[in-house]
Amino acid sequence: MGKVIAIANQKGGVAKTTTAVNLSACLAVKGRKTLLIDIDPQGNASSGLGVDKDKLDVCIYDVIINGLPLLHAALPAEIANLEVVPATIQLAGAEIELVAMIGRESKLKKALEKIRDKYDYIIIDCPPSLGLLTLNALTAADSILIPIQCEYYALEGLGQLLNTIELVQKHLNPDLQIEGVLCTMFDARTNLSLQVVEEVKKHFPEKIFKTIIPRNVRLSEAPSYGQPIITYDPRSKGAEMYHELAEEVIERG
Ligand code: ADP
Ligand code: MG
Repeated sequence: MGKVIAIANQKGGVAKTTTAVNLSACLAVKGRKTLLIDIDPQGNASSGLGVDKDKLDVCIYDVIINGLPLLHAALPAEIANLEVVPATIQLAGAEIELVAMIGRESKLKKALEKIRDKYDYIIIDCPPSLGLLTLNALTAADSILIPIQCEYYALEGLGQLLNTIELVQKHLNPDLQIEGVLCTMFDARTNLSLQVVEEVKKHFPEKIFKTIIPRNVRLSEAPSYGQPIITYDPRSKGAEMYHELAEEVIERG
């Protein structure tokens, strides 16, 4: 059975998508069969893997709203062992359409049931909100990976996220675990970055990943070439650290 990991934090710009794309790619090159599911209507994870969203006939919207089998929406990425289920802006309407639907929080879980055993890892890139799309991800997932940006207000909103996780555990998915908390965009030259890491360690001594993702301009350039960092610049610090993160995720089992 593949492990399903949701990358979530309702804050925007904390490196959810960067982590989803690059963790998926690193797991895939380590021989793990990986599926990346984009459930952010912005579709950044899809374009980050080179998917041309204008040319798609179907996307995750059709899976969640119309019950299309997930594999009918999956595309091979340019890296072996990696497939992606893309999202387009059409998905923006799903948040409202879901409200009136029966089992509105478990559409993605249902879609995943039939295909989980085909993959080692299924990574879900969530939108920057705690709406029904994110709830679908948390209901479908075995665990949540929370990226935290080493910046001002890093921990703001975290209480709300933890509350949501508790509610999901209580009502929708009792088995949901916290996979780990990942410090991102770390800048070793600033005290602030160090302070944020210390704070995160204090709050999540067991859950913080040893791997810390540094600020690395190559990581921010790669998406415009439709490539993960490991093919765009395999020798960059960003590539090295996402490899380490993938190792840690594999070790955590
Ligand atoms: P989210 O999905 O949480 O909104 P993104 O992954 O899109 O966040 O990241 C926000 C912005 O920061 C993007 O422009 C991305 O390229 C950039 N970025 C992410 N991680 C890094 C990093 N480690 N170093 C430099 N830029 C980064
Ligand atoms: Mg994103």
